[in-house]
Amino acid sequence: MTQKIEIPQPKSRFIKVRCPKCKNEQVIFGNASRVVKCLVCNKELAYPTGGKSKISARVLEVLE
Ligand SMILES: [Zn+2]
Repeated sequence: MTQKIEIPQPKSRFIKVRCPKCKNEQVIFGNASRVVKCLVCNKELAYPTGGKSKISARVLEVLE
């Protein structure tokens, strides 16, 4: 019997951001593996950069 223990990574958290273009507030994943776009205006809000995201929007809150 094998037991798999998953250790959460410190960067695995949700981030609340505000779109700089349309001011829409949106919660995104802190280490997204793909480009995250605004749901309203389709502006790119975060880019994956080797494990964690580069946020190109205003960060309002980090949700643990
Ligand atoms: Zn937007």
